[in-house]
Amino acid sequence: MNGVDEILAGFDGPQAAQEAFYKDLHQHPELSHHEFRTARCVAGKLQEYGFTVQTGIGGTGVAGVLANGAGPVVLLRAELDALPVRENTGVDYASTATTKAADGHEVPVAHACGHDMHMSCLLGAARLMAAARDRWHGTLLPLFQPAEETGDGAQGMVDGGLLDRIPAPDVALAQHLLPGIAGTVGTCAGPFMSAEDSIKVTVYGRGSHGALPQNGIDPVVLAAMIIVRLQTVVSREVTPGEITIVTVGSVQAGTRSNVIPDHAVLQLNVRSYSQPTRQRMLAAIHRIIQAECQASGSPKDPDFETLASFPLLDNNAAATERVAAAFTGHFGDRALVLDRQTVSEDFGIIPDAAGVPYTYWGIGRTDRQVYQAAEKAGRLADLPANHSPEFLPPLRPTLRTGTEALVTAAMAWLAPH
Ligand code: ZN
Ligand code: ZN
Repeated sequence: MNGVDEILAGFDGPQAAQEAFYKDLHQHPELSHHEFRTARCVAGKLQEYGFTVQTGIGGTGVAGVLANGAGPVVLLRAELDALPVRENTGVDYASTATTKAADGHEVPVAHACGHDMHMSCLLGAARLMAAARDRWHGTLLPLFQPAEETGDGAQGMVDGGLLDRIPAPDVALAQHLLPGIAGTVGTCAGPFMSAEDSIKVTVYGRGSHGALPQNGIDPVVLAAMIIVRLQTVVSREVTPGEITIVTVGSVQAGTRSNVIPDHAVLQLNVRSYSQPTRQRMLAAIHRIIQAECQASGSPKDPDFETLASFPLLDNNAAATERVAAAFTGHFGDRALVLDRQTVSEDFGIIPDAAGVPYTYWGIGRTDRQVYQAAEKAGRLADLPANHSPEFLPPLRPTLRTGTEALVTAAMAWLAPH
C-alpha cells in the first residue's frame, strides 16, 4: 500500500456517519450569504477532527488549519450555499426547506448544485488526513466558501482578510459535480470554465397611447432590435471556433397592449474563455445597444449595471498535470480528461489573490447505468443538470469518489518524498 491507500483504508468505518452528515446538510440548505447553520456544522466537524478553525470570514466563510510539520500548504475548497430551487428527486432525504428571499417572497431552497456533497467530501478528506498524520507532512487547509452561486463569495473572503488569517498556501485545489459517470474524476489543463458577465440594461423610449405611436418612442421595438442585433456578436465578431455565448435571458417592458411604455429592461449573460475576447464582446454589446438607442431616437442614454461577474477559471498546467497523474495512479481508467465547461465559478479569485497556482476538477454526477442508457439513446442532454429540480448525485459511490479525489490530490503535495 502507498500513503494514499493507507489513508483511504480509514474510509469504511465512519462512512455511515459521513452519509448521515451529507443527508443532514441536504435537508438544511441555505441561500448564498445566509449559510449560518451550514457554517456552524462544518466548523464543528473541523474542530472535532483537531483543526484550528476560523469562522466568519467574509460573512459565513470557514477555514480550518492542520499544521503537520514542514512541507507544502495545500488549500482545499468547498462551497456552503444552496439555490432557490424546489427539489423534485423523490428521495426520502429530499429538501422541503423554504426561506424568505431578499424581496420578501417565500422561496424553496435545495442543494441543486451539489455543494452539500462537496462539503461532505472535504470533511471526509479532512477526517482521514487528520487520522493519518504520520503518513504526510505539511499543512492542510480546508476552506468553506459562502455565496459561490452569486459569484461574490470568494471575493468576499479575500476582502474579509482571509489571507491574513490562514498560512500562505502553496497550491489551491477544488472539485465540482459535473456531467459524467459517478465514480469518475476528470481534469482539464488551462481554461476550464468560462468567464461570465451578467448585465442589466435599461433602454429608454417615450410613453404614449398604443394607438398614437407617432407621439412616442417605442422601447419594445428598440429592445427587439437590440436582441436580434446582439446575435451577431458571437456569429460575426468572435473568431469562429472560439466558444462564446451571449444570451438575453430576460426582457421586460410595458403592462398592456394599448400602452407604449417608456422603458425596457434586458438581462444579458455573456460567456467567454479569454480576457481579450471578453473585452471585445463587452465593447460590442455596449456599442450595439448605444447605436440602437440612437437609431430609435431614444431620449436618454441606456443604463448598464453589472449584476454578477465571474473570472475565467484557468487551471495551472503543472498543478493539473500533478493531480491528473495522481488520479491515474489511484483511479486507473476512472480518471478522465474533461472538455471545457460553459458554466462559471469564482474559486480562482482566492488563489489569484494569494498568487499561487490552482487546479479544479470534475467528479461525475450521474449513476453509471443511467448515464450509459442515456448515452446509447443519444439523450445525454436530458439528464438532470446542476441547478435542475431533479439534480441529485448517487450517494454511493459519489461521496467516496469525491473524498478519495481530495486525499489523492492533496497527497500529490503532502506525501513524503
Ligand atoms: Zn451552481
Ligand atoms: Zn456549484
